[in-house]
Amino acid sequence: MGARLVKINVGARTDVGRVRRANEDSYLAREPFFVVADGMGGHLAGDIASSTAVSTIEGHLTDAAPDRPESFAALVQGANRAIWERAQGDSGLRGMGTTCTLLFLDAATAHIAHVGDSRAYRLRAGSLEQLTEDHTLVARMVREGKLAPEEAEHHPQRSIITRALGVDSDVAVDLVAVELHSGDRLLLCSDGLSSMIQESAITDVLGGEQDSQAAADALVDLANEAGGEDNVTVLIIDVVDASAEADHGAAGAVAPAPPDAPTRSDTPAELPPEVRVSRRPRRWLRRLSGLLVLGALGAAAVWVADYTLEHSWFVGVNDEGLVTIYRGIPEEIAGLSFREEHEVTDVALADLPGWKREDVRNEMKFDSLDGARSNITNLERISRDSQQSAGRVGG
Ligand code: CA
Repeated sequence: MGARLVKINVGARTDVGRVRRANEDSYLAREPFFVVADGMGGHLAGDIASSTAVSTIEGHLTDAAPDRPESFAALVQGANRAIWERAQGDSGLRGMGTTCTLLFLDAATAHIAHVGDSRAYRLRAGSLEQLTEDHTLVARMVREGKLAPEEAEHHPQRSIITRALGVDSDVAVDLVAVELHSGDRLLLCSDGLSSMIQESAITDVLGGEQDSQAAADALVDLANEAGGEDNVTVLIIDVVDASAEADHGAAGAVAPAPPDAPTRSDTPAELPPEVRVSRRPRRWLRRLSGLLVLGALGAAAVWVADYTLEHSWFVGVNDEGLVTIYRGIPEEIAGLSFREEHEVTDVALADLPGWKREDVRNEMKFDSLDGARSNITNLERISRDSQQSAGRVGG
Protein backbone atom coordinates (compact mmCIF):
# COMPACT_ATOMS: atom_id res chain seq x y z
CA MET A 1 0.00 0.00 0.00
CA GLY A 2 0.93 3.63 0.12
CA ALA A 3 0.23 3.69 -3.58
CA ARG A 4 -0.36 7.03 -5.20
CA LEU A 5 -3.63 6.20 -6.93
CA VAL A 6 -3.77 9.20 -9.15
CA LYS A 7 -4.86 7.66 -12.40
CA ILE A 8 -8.51 6.96 -12.99
CA ASN A 9 -10.23 5.42 -15.99
CA VAL A 10 -13.95 5.85 -16.26
CA GLY A 11 -16.65 4.08 -18.24
CA ALA A 12 -20.22 5.37 -18.13
CA ARG A 13 -23.48 4.49 -19.78
CA THR A 14 -27.15 5.00 -19.09
CA ASP A 15 -29.96 3.39 -21.04
CA VAL A 16 -33.75 3.50 -20.98
CA GLY A 17 -33.97 -0.30 -21.11
CA ARG A 18 -36.49 -2.26 -23.11
CA VAL A 19 -39.71 -1.62 -21.25
CA ARG A 20 -39.83 1.94 -19.90
CA ARG A 21 -40.57 4.85 -22.15
CA ALA A 22 -38.40 7.35 -20.32
CA ASN A 23 -35.04 7.17 -18.62
CA GLU A 24 -35.44 8.51 -15.09
CA ASP A 25 -31.87 7.69 -14.07
CA SER A 26 -29.27 10.46 -13.98
CA TYR A 27 -25.55 10.34 -13.40
CA LEU A 28 -22.54 12.55 -12.96
CA ALA A 29 -18.96 11.66 -13.84
CA ARG A 30 -16.83 14.67 -12.96
CA GLU A 31 -13.67 13.28 -11.58
CA PRO A 32 -13.20 12.87 -8.65
CA PHE A 33 -17.00 13.00 -8.15
CA PHE A 34 -19.29 10.23 -9.39
CA VAL A 35 -23.04 10.05 -8.79
CA VAL A 36 -25.85 7.70 -9.79
CA ALA A 37 -29.45 8.76 -9.08
CA ASP A 38 -32.53 6.66 -9.90
CA GLY A 39 -35.69 8.73 -9.91
CA MET A 40 -39.23 7.65 -9.13
CA GLY A 41 -42.57 9.35 -9.13
CA GLY A 42 -44.52 8.88 -12.32
CA HIS A 43 -44.85 11.04 -15.41
CA LEU A 44 -41.70 13.12 -15.60
CA ALA A 45 -41.33 13.54 -11.84
CA GLY A 46 -38.75 10.78 -11.48
CA ASP A 47 -36.56 12.32 -14.12
CA ILE A 48 -36.88 15.73 -12.47
CA ALA A 49 -35.99 14.24 -9.08
CA SER A 50 -32.86 12.45 -10.28
CA SER A 51 -31.65 15.28 -12.50
CA THR A 52 -32.24 17.80 -9.72
CA ALA A 53 -30.13 15.61 -7.41
CA VAL A 54 -27.26 15.53 -9.88
CA SER A 55 -27.40 19.21 -10.85
CA THR A 56 -27.64 20.34 -7.22
CA ILE A 57 -24.64 18.24 -6.26
CA GLU A 58 -22.75 19.46 -9.31
CA GLY A 59 -23.40 23.04 -8.27
CA HIS A 60 -21.85 22.48 -4.83
CA LEU A 61 -18.83 20.29 -5.55
CA THR A 62 -16.47 22.83 -4.06
CA ASP A 63 -18.31 22.63 -0.72
CA ALA A 64 -17.00 19.10 -0.14
CA ALA A 65 -13.58 18.06 1.01
CA PRO A 66 -12.14 14.67 1.95
CA ASP A 67 -10.87 15.88 5.32
CA ARG A 68 -14.54 16.44 6.20
CA PRO A 69 -16.28 13.25 5.04
CA GLU A 70 -19.55 14.60 6.45
CA SER A 71 -19.36 17.20 3.68
CA PHE A 72 -20.25 14.43 1.20
CA ALA A 73 -23.36 13.63 3.20
CA ALA A 74 -24.11 17.36 3.18
CA LEU A 75 -24.00 17.38 -0.64
CA VAL A 76 -26.63 14.64 -0.70
CA GLN A 77 -28.69 16.40 1.95
CA GLY A 78 -28.56 19.59 -0.12
CA ALA A 79 -29.86 17.65 -3.10
CA ASN A 80 -32.62 16.21 -0.93
CA ARG A 81 -33.68 19.66 0.14
CA ALA A 82 -33.71 20.99 -3.42
CA ILE A 83 -35.96 18.15 -4.62
CA TRP A 84 -38.24 18.40 -1.60
CA GLU A 85 -38.66 22.15 -2.04
CA ARG A 86 -39.44 21.71 -5.71
CA ALA A 87 -42.06 19.08 -4.89
CA GLN A 88 -43.67 21.36 -2.29
CA GLY A 89 -44.15 24.02 -4.93
CA ASP A 90 -45.79 21.80 -7.54
CA SER A 91 -48.57 19.35 -6.72
CA GLY A 92 -47.77 17.41 -9.91
CA LEU A 93 -44.36 16.62 -8.47
CA ARG A 94 -45.45 15.84 -4.91
CA GLY A 95 -44.11 12.48 -3.80
CA MET A 96 -41.30 12.31 -6.34
CA GLY A 97 -38.05 10.90 -5.08
CA THR A 98 -34.71 9.55 -6.10
CA THR A 99 -31.93 7.34 -4.89
CA CYS A 100 -28.49 8.90 -4.71
CA THR A 101 -25.14 7.19 -4.50
CA LEU A 102 -22.22 9.60 -4.53
CA LEU A 103 -18.60 8.49 -4.67
CA PHE A 104 -15.58 10.72 -4.18
CA LEU A 105 -12.08 9.47 -4.90
CA ASP A 106 -9.39 10.86 -2.67
CA ALA A 107 -6.01 9.32 -3.39
CA ALA A 108 -6.37 5.80 -1.98
CA THR A 109 -9.77 6.26 -0.36
CA ALA A 110 -13.27 6.17 -1.80
CA HIS A 111 -15.82 8.16 0.18
CA ILE A 112 -19.40 7.15 -0.48
CA ALA A 113 -22.57 8.98 0.56
CA HIS A 114 -25.65 6.92 -0.10
CA VAL A 115 -29.47 6.84 0.06
CA GLY A 116 -31.71 4.25 -1.60
CA ASP A 117 -31.09 1.09 -3.59
CA SER A 118 -28.58 2.13 -6.19
CA ARG A 119 -25.31 0.41 -5.38
CA ALA A 120 -21.57 0.84 -5.13
CA TYR A 121 -19.38 -2.22 -5.56
CA ARG A 122 -15.65 -2.84 -5.42
CA LEU A 123 -14.06 -5.58 -7.49
CA ARG A 124 -10.74 -6.69 -6.04
CA ALA A 125 -8.77 -9.76 -7.06
CA GLY A 126 -11.77 -11.20 -8.85
CA SER A 127 -14.24 -10.84 -6.03
CA LEU A 128 -17.08 -8.37 -5.93
CA GLU A 129 -18.08 -6.63 -2.72
CA GLN A 130 -21.16 -4.44 -2.31
CA LEU A 131 -20.05 -1.32 -0.44
CA THR A 132 -23.50 0.18 0.12
CA GLU A 133 -26.45 -1.14 2.03
CA ASP A 134 -29.75 -1.18 0.11
CA HIS A 135 -32.46 0.87 1.77
CA THR A 136 -35.16 -1.60 0.82
CA LEU A 137 -37.64 -3.70 2.72
CA VAL A 138 -36.11 -6.94 1.51
CA ALA A 139 -32.57 -5.88 2.46
CA ARG A 140 -33.88 -5.07 5.89
CA MET A 141 -35.46 -8.50 6.13
CA VAL A 142 -32.20 -10.14 5.08
CA ARG A 143 -30.33 -8.20 7.76
CA GLU A 144 -32.90 -9.32 10.32
CA GLY A 145 -32.58 -12.93 9.20
CA LYS A 146 -36.17 -13.11 7.94
CA LEU A 147 -35.22 -13.70 4.34
CA ALA A 148 -32.31 -15.51 2.68
CA PRO A 149 -30.17 -13.38 0.35
CA GLU A 150 -31.08 -15.67 -2.57
CA GLU A 151 -34.79 -15.13 -1.87
CA ALA A 152 -34.28 -11.36 -1.78
CA GLU A 153 -32.87 -11.31 -5.32
CA HIS A 154 -36.15 -12.34 -6.89
CA HIS A 155 -38.52 -11.12 -4.24
CA PRO A 156 -41.56 -9.36 -5.74
CA GLN A 157 -41.17 -6.52 -3.27
CA ARG A 158 -37.47 -6.00 -3.87
CA SER A 159 -38.11 -2.55 -5.37
CA ILE A 160 -39.85 -1.13 -2.32
CA ILE A 161 -37.37 1.40 -1.06
CA THR A 162 -37.49 2.82 2.39
CA ARG A 163 -35.32 5.89 2.05
CA ALA A 164 -35.09 8.36 -0.81
CA LEU A 165 -34.27 11.97 -1.54
CA GLY A 166 -37.16 14.37 -1.94
CA VAL A 167 -39.83 12.98 0.36
CA ASP A 168 -38.92 14.86 3.53
CA SER A 169 -37.04 18.06 4.34
CA ASP A 170 -34.35 15.90 5.93
CA VAL A 171 -32.84 12.54 5.05
CA ALA A 172 -30.42 10.19 6.79
CA VAL A 173 -27.37 9.59 4.60
CA ASP A 174 -25.09 6.57 4.95
CA LEU A 175 -21.44 7.49 4.81
CA VAL A 176 -18.89 4.83 3.94
CA ALA A 177 -15.15 5.11 3.42
CA VAL A 178 -13.13 2.29 1.90
CA GLU A 179 -9.46 2.08 1.07
CA LEU A 180 -8.39 1.29 -2.45
CA HIS A 181 -5.57 -0.73 -3.93
CA SER A 182 -4.12 -0.31 -7.36
CA GLY A 183 -6.19 -2.37 -9.77
CA ASP A 184 -9.41 -2.02 -7.82
CA ARG A 185 -12.43 -1.47 -9.98
CA LEU A 186 -15.42 0.47 -8.61
CA LEU A 187 -18.93 0.14 -9.97
CA LEU A 188 -21.88 2.45 -9.34
CA CYS A 189 -25.19 1.28 -10.75
CA SER A 190 -28.93 1.72 -10.55
CA ASP A 191 -31.09 -1.28 -9.68
CA GLY A 192 -31.85 -1.67 -13.37
CA LEU A 193 -28.52 -3.50 -13.46
CA SER A 194 -28.46 -5.29 -10.10
CA SER A 195 -32.05 -6.51 -10.33
CA MET A 196 -31.72 -7.76 -13.89
CA ILE A 197 -28.51 -9.76 -13.76
CA GLN A 198 -26.78 -11.88 -11.15
CA GLU A 199 -23.79 -10.58 -9.25
CA SER A 200 -21.79 -13.47 -10.71
CA ALA A 201 -22.45 -12.09 -14.21
CA ILE A 202 -21.40 -8.61 -13.07
CA THR A 203 -18.22 -10.11 -11.61
CA ASP A 204 -17.50 -11.95 -14.87
CA VAL A 205 -17.81 -8.80 -16.97
CA LEU A 206 -15.80 -6.64 -14.58
CA GLY A 207 -13.10 -9.30 -14.32
CA GLY A 208 -13.00 -10.08 -18.03
CA GLU A 209 -13.29 -6.76 -19.84
CA GLN A 210 -10.31 -4.56 -19.09
CA ASP A 211 -11.50 -1.41 -20.84
CA SER A 212 -13.75 0.53 -18.47
CA GLN A 213 -16.10 1.89 -21.16
CA ALA A 214 -16.39 -1.49 -22.89
CA ALA A 215 -17.19 -3.08 -19.51
CA ALA A 216 -19.92 -0.47 -18.85
CA ASP A 217 -21.39 -1.12 -22.28
CA ALA A 218 -21.29 -4.88 -21.76
CA LEU A 219 -23.14 -4.63 -18.43
CA VAL A 220 -25.90 -2.47 -19.92
CA ASP A 221 -26.21 -4.89 -22.84
CA LEU A 222 -26.54 -7.83 -20.44
CA ALA A 223 -29.28 -6.06 -18.46
CA ASN A 224 -31.17 -5.44 -21.70
CA GLU A 225 -30.68 -9.00 -22.90
CA ALA A 226 -32.12 -10.17 -19.58
CA GLY A 227 -35.28 -8.18 -20.31
CA GLY A 228 -34.26 -4.57 -19.71
CA GLU A 229 -37.24 -4.08 -17.43
CA ASP A 230 -35.86 -0.90 -15.89
CA ASN A 231 -33.65 2.03 -16.75
CA VAL A 232 -30.06 1.02 -16.25
CA THR A 233 -27.07 3.17 -15.39
CA VAL A 234 -23.51 1.98 -14.96
CA LEU A 235 -20.39 3.90 -13.92
CA ILE A 236 -17.09 2.05 -13.78
CA ILE A 237 -14.11 3.69 -12.14
CA ASP A 238 -10.73 2.02 -12.39
CA VAL A 239 -8.06 3.18 -10.00
CA VAL A 240 -4.51 2.62 -11.01
CA ASP A 241 -1.29 3.07 -9.11
CA ALA A 242 0.38 5.76 -11.14
CA SER A 243 3.80 4.93 -9.79
CA ALA A 244 3.45 1.41 -11.18
CA GLU A 245 2.25 2.45 -14.60
CA ALA A 246 3.48 5.07 -16.99
CA ASP A 247 1.05 7.78 -18.02
CA HIS A 248 -1.33 6.51 -20.70
CA GLY A 249 -3.23 9.74 -21.11
CA ALA A 250 -6.86 10.04 -20.08
CA ALA A 251 -8.37 7.35 -22.29
CA GLY A 252 -11.81 6.29 -21.21
CA ALA A 253 -12.57 9.31 -19.09
CA VAL A 254 -15.99 10.53 -20.21
CA ALA A 255 -15.88 13.76 -18.28
CA PRO A 256 -12.61 15.58 -17.80
CA ALA A 257 -12.11 17.25 -14.45
CA PRO A 258 -13.30 20.85 -14.67
CA PRO A 259 -10.88 23.57 -13.68
CA ASP A 260 -12.95 24.46 -10.61
CA ALA A 261 -13.24 20.92 -9.31
CA PRO A 262 -11.46 20.16 -6.05
CA THR A 263 -8.07 18.67 -6.79
CA ARG A 264 -7.25 15.27 -5.46
CA SER A 265 -4.45 14.94 -3.05
CA ASP A 266 -1.42 13.26 -4.52
CA THR A 267 -0.23 12.11 -1.14
CA PRO A 268 -1.26 8.75 0.25
CA ALA A 269 -4.33 9.15 2.39
CA GLU A 270 -4.47 8.22 6.01
CA LEU A 271 -6.68 5.17 5.63
CA PRO A 272 -9.79 5.47 7.78
CA PRO A 273 -11.57 2.41 9.06
CA GLU A 274 -14.72 1.56 7.16
CA VAL A 275 -17.36 3.66 8.86
CA ARG A 276 -21.09 4.02 8.65
CA VAL A 277 -22.86 6.91 10.28
CA SER A 278 -26.26 8.61 10.33
CA ARG A 279 -28.24 5.44 10.70
CA ARG A 280 -31.39 6.20 12.59
CA PRO A 281 -33.93 3.59 13.61
CA ARG A 282 -36.93 3.32 11.36
CA ARG A 283 -39.96 2.54 13.44
CA TRP A 284 -42.17 2.04 10.40
CA LEU A 285 -39.78 -0.40 8.89
CA ARG A 286 -40.09 -2.78 11.77
CA ARG A 287 -43.85 -2.76 11.32
CA LEU A 288 -43.62 -3.00 7.56
CA SER A 289 -41.22 -5.91 7.77
CA GLY A 290 -43.73 -7.79 9.90
CA LEU A 291 -46.52 -6.90 7.52
CA LEU A 292 -44.45 -8.01 4.60
CA VAL A 293 -43.91 -11.43 6.12
CA LEU A 294 -47.63 -11.80 6.75
CA GLY A 295 -48.83 -10.16 3.60
CA ALA A 296 -49.78 -11.74 0.34
CA LEU A 297 -47.16 -11.26 -2.33
CA GLY A 298 -48.13 -9.23 -5.31
CA ALA A 299 -46.04 -8.55 -8.36
CA ALA A 300 -46.05 -4.79 -8.47
CA ALA A 301 -42.82 -2.93 -8.01
CA VAL A 302 -43.76 0.00 -5.89
CA TRP A 303 -42.03 2.48 -3.77
CA VAL A 304 -43.15 3.52 -0.36
CA ALA A 305 -41.52 6.28 1.60
CA ASP A 306 -41.80 5.75 5.30
CA TYR A 307 -42.26 9.48 5.62
CA THR A 308 -45.52 9.26 3.74
CA LEU A 309 -46.74 6.56 6.06
CA GLU A 310 -45.70 8.42 9.18
CA HIS A 311 -47.65 11.49 8.11
CA SER A 312 -50.77 9.90 6.66
CA TRP A 313 -54.00 9.34 8.54
CA PHE A 314 -57.39 8.06 7.63
CA VAL A 315 -60.69 7.32 9.30
CA GLY A 316 -62.28 3.91 8.72
CA VAL A 317 -63.98 1.09 10.55
CA ASN A 318 -62.28 -1.63 12.57
CA ASP A 319 -63.26 -5.30 12.74
CA GLU A 320 -65.71 -4.55 15.56
CA GLY A 321 -67.60 -1.98 13.52
CA LEU A 322 -66.21 1.00 15.43
CA VAL A 323 -65.02 4.15 13.70
CA THR A 324 -61.22 4.19 14.00
CA ILE A 325 -58.38 6.54 13.23
CA TYR A 326 -55.58 4.75 11.39
CA ARG A 327 -52.04 5.83 10.74
CA GLY A 328 -50.88 4.90 7.26
CA ILE A 329 -52.71 4.53 4.00
CA PRO A 330 -56.01 2.75 3.30
CA GLU A 331 -54.81 1.26 0.03
CA GLU A 332 -53.05 -2.04 -0.11
CA ILE A 333 -49.94 -2.11 -2.24
CA ALA A 334 -49.02 -5.37 -3.89
CA GLY A 335 -51.30 -7.12 -1.45
CA LEU A 336 -49.63 -5.50 1.54
CA SER A 337 -51.30 -3.37 4.17
CA PHE A 338 -49.60 -0.23 5.42
CA ARG A 339 -51.86 0.79 8.29
CA GLU A 340 -52.09 0.56 12.02
CA GLU A 341 -54.94 1.37 14.40
CA HIS A 342 -54.22 4.61 16.22
CA GLU A 343 -57.42 5.48 18.09
CA VAL A 344 -60.61 3.44 18.30
CA THR A 345 -63.64 5.66 18.99
CA ASP A 346 -66.99 4.90 20.67
CA VAL A 347 -68.82 5.70 17.45
CA ALA A 348 -70.33 2.59 15.90
CA LEU A 349 -70.76 2.55 12.15
CA ALA A 350 -74.29 1.18 12.72
CA ASP A 351 -75.23 4.35 14.66
CA LEU A 352 -74.44 6.62 11.73
CA PRO A 353 -77.03 7.56 9.15
CA GLY A 354 -76.70 5.72 5.85
CA TRP A 355 -75.24 8.67 3.91
CA LYS A 356 -72.42 9.02 6.43
CA ARG A 357 -71.74 5.29 6.71
CA GLU A 358 -70.74 5.27 3.08
CA ASP A 359 -68.13 8.00 3.67
CA VAL A 360 -66.58 6.09 6.53
CA ARG A 361 -66.60 2.79 4.67
CA ASN A 362 -64.78 4.51 1.81
CA GLU A 363 -62.14 5.70 4.29
CA MET A 364 -61.42 9.40 4.59
CA LYS A 365 -57.80 10.53 4.35
CA PHE A 366 -56.20 13.34 6.38
CA ASP A 367 -52.71 14.74 6.38
CA SER A 368 -52.71 15.33 10.13
CA LEU A 369 -53.97 13.60 13.24
CA ASP A 370 -55.80 16.82 14.21
CA GLY A 371 -57.67 16.71 10.93
CA ALA A 372 -58.76 13.14 11.57
CA ARG A 373 -59.79 13.98 15.14
CA SER A 374 -61.93 16.93 14.13
CA ASN A 375 -63.65 14.65 11.64
CA ILE A 376 -64.34 12.24 14.51
CA THR A 377 -65.86 15.09 16.56
CA ASN A 378 -68.18 15.72 13.65
CA LEU A 379 -69.06 12.03 13.37
CA GLU A 380 -69.84 11.87 17.10
CA ARG A 381 -72.29 14.74 16.69
CA ILE A 382 -73.91 13.16 13.62
CA SER A 383 -74.15 9.84 15.47
CA ARG A 384 -75.86 11.52 18.48
CA ASP A 385 -78.25 13.44 16.25
CA SER A 386 -79.05 10.31 14.25
CA GLN A 387 -79.80 8.26 17.38
CA GLN A 388 -81.96 11.03 18.85
CA SER A 389 -84.01 11.36 15.70
CA ALA A 390 -84.24 7.55 15.45
CA GLY A 391 -85.45 7.58 19.07
CA ARG A 392 -88.11 10.18 18.23
CA VAL A 393 -89.28 8.24 15.19
CA GLY A 394 -89.28 4.97 17.10
CA GLY A 395 -90.99 6.43 20.24
CA1 CA B 1 -34.67 1.78 -11.12
